[in-house]
Amino acid sequence: MTAPTESVAAEQRPRREAPKPLTAGTRPYIAQALVYLFVIVPLLALIAAVPFAWGWGLGVVDISLAFVFYVLSGLGVTVGFHRLFTHRSFKTNRTVQVLLAISGMGAVQGPVINWVADHRRHHAYSDREGDPHSPWRFGSSAAALAKGFWHAHMGWLFERDVTNAERFAPDLLKDRVLARINKLFPVWTLASFVLPAVLGGLITWSWWGALTAFFWAGLVRVSVLHHITWSVNSICHMIGERPFKSRDKAANFWPLALVSFGESWHNSHHADPTCARHGVLKGQLDISARLIWMLEKAGWAWKVRWPNEQRLARISVTEQQG
Ligand SMILES: [Zn+2]
Ligand SMILES: [Zn+2]
Repeated sequence: MTAPTESVAAEQRPRREAPKPLTAGTRPYIAQALVYLFVIVPLLALIAAVPFAWGWGLGVVDISLAFVFYVLSGLGVTVGFHRLFTHRSFKTNRTVQVLLAISGMGAVQGPVINWVADHRRHHAYSDREGDPHSPWRFGSSAAALAKGFWHAHMGWLFERDVTNAERFAPDLLKDRVLARINKLFPVWTLASFVLPAVLGGLITWSWWGALTAFFWAGLVRVSVLHHITWSVNSICHMIGERPFKSRDKAANFWPLALVSFGESWHNSHHADPTCARHGVLKGQLDISARLIWMLEKAGWAWKVRWPNEQRLARISVTEQQG
């Protein structure tokens, strides 16, 4: 295990009485370029592969299934794992809880209780020692940031230390239904790949259709969603705007708002974690908040913690010091 560097820990130590500025200069061009390179080029390559593959193992059925499974598993994570189970930003009935937990498991990001424990730990120690995935872990030089980016994006997943769910998610461990769904993680993972294949096979009535649906709506979809989710941990703690007060380096990165279903409004989220809407400013697209709103309208969600003037005033940078 790598020990967090003194520089990050020390830098974050000084407490409230004399808050240091939120940011410490701008990132060197090299580090900035590396972030763009690693994030955008592979994604462009994937997009470029689509027209080449069209007609040779990729068709309308595959794209449609990939879209449907992306939305289902993605919202399972953003609305279920994140806003409901981690932050309790709304209440809902058992059926919706179960559906969200299962569809989130389809994203293959680990069992819900482990996900929640990691994420609560992330908020508790955000960008400080103890944060499971901070891009600032190794310091702020170009080399340290390149290493930190990799660590925050996916390197941390390969570390063998398991976040203590007894400490960070005792409420979920006590929930018998959720704990049982959690244990069945391998089943949901399998279903997340088998279901697209079965549907693709049935719709096209061919083994080839099953195989291509498995490839695009199973493997490729899981990989794309992985990278979008991980980008919130890496990019959204490095690049973007910071209109609100948060104790860390979380930033709003607009280019990911649509595909991350509103999760890339990450500065607003860290400033007010229990808020059901992350895109709290005008024009900030937040599809997850829209789903919660629809559940509320249908009577399936209540006590939703919507943003209001008091909440916004509390996190506003321009607010007078009390
Ligand atoms: Zn974060
Ligand atoms: Zn969160």
